[in-house]
Amino acid sequence: MRKKISIVIPVYNEEENIRPVYARMKETIRAIPDYEFEVIFVNDGSSDGTWAEISGLAESENGIKALNFSRNFGHQAAIEAGLANAGGEAAITMDGDMQHPPEIIPELISKWEQGFEIVNTKREETEGISFFKKIASGIFYRLINSISEVHIESGSADFRLVGRRAMDELNRLTEKNKFYRGLISWIGFESATVKYKAEKRLGGKSSYTFNKMLSLARVGITSFSMLPMKVILLFGALLFFGGFLLTAGMVFWRYCIGSALFSGTGILAAFIIMNNGLFMVMLGIVSMYQINMCKELQNRPNYIITEKINLS
Ligand code: UDP
Ligand code: MG
Repeated sequence: MRKKISIVIPVYNEEENIRPVYARMKETIRAIPDYEFEVIFVNDGSSDGTWAEISGLAESENGIKALNFSRNFGHQAAIEAGLANAGGEAAITMDGDMQHPPEIIPELISKWEQGFEIVNTKREETEGISFFKKIASGIFYRLINSISEVHIESGSADFRLVGRRAMDELNRLTEKNKFYRGLISWIGFESATVKYKAEKRLGGKSSYTFNKMLSLARVGITSFSMLPMKVILLFGALLFFGGFLLTAGMVFWRYCIGSALFSGTGILAAFIIMNNGLFMVMLGIVSMYQINMCKELQNRPNYIITEKINLS
């Protein structure tokens, strides 16, 4: 029996791209007859004719499945729904605007067959990407990699293949703030990377507004780094000790040695620094408990097992 592979395509206002993207996909799929494919479109609450295009296509073509959201819930939510409904032994997630060339699908599959449970992609260069987006993306990846507990390859997008085991682990995660680029690295497993040249978006315009990008970056950083919470305690402690030494030194100088070098106002300023430090230490202690709470709420498994010997 042929192995089944699911292709998950989240779409938001892509009415003019649905058919061309599918047509190109079909060409690729036809060239790999050893596998059975299901294409799952996830319509993320589009306000244009995207759903009509998908339903029309599903009537005339075999192997098309689709989900329709009641409103726009976001790209990551659409991926989540697609993966939860994928019936294949592997799933490939990709954009529905032709920026992710289906021609590299055979390469993704062959890496998976070589034993890589996750096959990531890395864009070499992107045509028609704005200067702003390039800079913003560069800063984001540098920042997240320097403070987070997982490594995220720069230039990675949600274009990848995940094998059934990895998919099951992703589907098991209950956290609400899902950032797949981070989660894919967090779940572990053997992974490989395939390079590609991203193309221009075919029609329509990018729906990743500045706000959506900012929100994705926030989720990425706050769900994979507790460092901002940890530095509060460190800064507080430094401020407190600095302020304490300053205050004690000034008081000693003025009242024990009798020097008029430091005024009462100066001593008050030093005292305020020490006091602010004290409050920050308190805040830092509270954030230590919040780190624990965050982890409890994320409810990620403490481990993922890939193999067992003599154990069922
Ligand atoms: N998308 C989505 N929901 C959204 C925004 C985008 O499902 O709220 C889809 C979109 O249709 C596309 C993919 O996510 O298939 C990537 O979006 P886009 O091309 O707008 O982002 P960019 O490539 O500019 O980063
Ligand atoms: Mg795009």
